[in-house]
Amino acid sequence: MVDLSSYNAGLRPDSILKVSDWADENRILSQTASSEPGKFRTDRTPYLKEIMDALSPSSPIEKVVFMKGAQVGGTEAGNNWIGYIIDQAPGPMLVVQPTVEMGKRWSKGRLAPLLEDSPCLRNKVKDPRSRDSGNTVQSKEFAGGIVVVTGANSAVGLRSMPVRYLFLDEVDAYPPDADSEGDPLTLAIQRTSTFARKKIFIVSTPTIQGLSRIEREFKETDQRYYFVPCPHCDFFQILKWENIKYDSDPLQAVYVCEHCKRNIENHHKTEMLRRGRWESTQRDAATEEQCEVESTAAISIKNPRVVGFHLSSLYSPVGWLSWGTCAQNYERAKDDDQLLKAWTNTTLGLPWEEKG
Ligand SMILES: [Zn+2]
Repeated sequence: MVDLSSYNAGLRPDSILKVSDWADENRILSQTASSEPGKFRTDRTPYLKEIMDALSPSSPIEKVVFMKGAQVGGTEAGNNWIGYIIDQAPGPMLVVQPTVEMGKRWSKGRLAPLLEDSPCLRNKVKDPRSRDSGNTVQSKEFAGGIVVVTGANSAVGLRSMPVRYLFLDEVDAYPPDADSEGDPLTLAIQRTSTFARKKIFIVSTPTIQGLSRIEREFKETDQRYYFVPCPHCDFFQILKWENIKYDSDPLQAVYVCEHCKRNIENHHKTEMLRRGRWESTQRDAATEEQCEVESTAAISIKNPRVVGFHLSSLYSPVGWLSWGTCAQNYERAKDDDQLLKAWTNTTLGLPWEEKG
């Protein structure tokens, strides 16, 4: 077992570099694990910048919640964070996947390419083939830290060690209970209690309304949405499914600006995303309510160290998932509850409301 006292002692001051700057400088997306291999560019998925930067040690944020649809590049935010920790701010980290098996698969399919393909990480974690490398599928040692990968179904794994960094991935696929020892999320978060400057990153596509962990976590945050400007009238708005319009061919779908009602084409998205900004939707509402009911104080004020982001696949960059394909997928799914549930979860990034 690793001696953890050296971690707590603080071997060196934290880097002031932000995770997004580090990623642009150092991160190489691998041929095997990425649809767009090569240098990582934050401007390809500009909405990830604020999420990644909240994970930087220079940010006072402790807990970052990300509820999302598919094909928005959300996985890379977590990967960049891991790379950053190994290179810039070493410490003990726990990565929790839904099961131990899925954790092993994630380690081989995602973590290993991350370590091999970015030159500045290549030598930081020793070759797993060398003896005493401290490098196995479930555990990667590096100077000043370790990344341990486990599953939410393993109470032993969740209690393995104190951690400064906790990455809870796809939490809506976690079992309700880890080996009858309680909620895996709670068990894992308890591991961070001894660290003053901890970071917790909770990511998932939601599942069923009321049961969804990521929905519950997101509701306890300041609930940030990504506002993008209309290319015609410059009105900033959240992209919503009800504003997607098409006639007979869903692939020709356009977005109708909620302000000027003019059509926005899919290719406009690049510029819209570039100029977009995250805004909390909770702060204003809560402040207004506060005048009437004192007890409903703004959540964002109660929990200044917790932030939450929601992003649907309607924000997927040009070349990944178009509004037309989202519409086509909707047409295929709309008459079947199971398909429509999956579409709602993965495309809109929203929990599904069960009937009855
Ligand atoms: Zn407009």
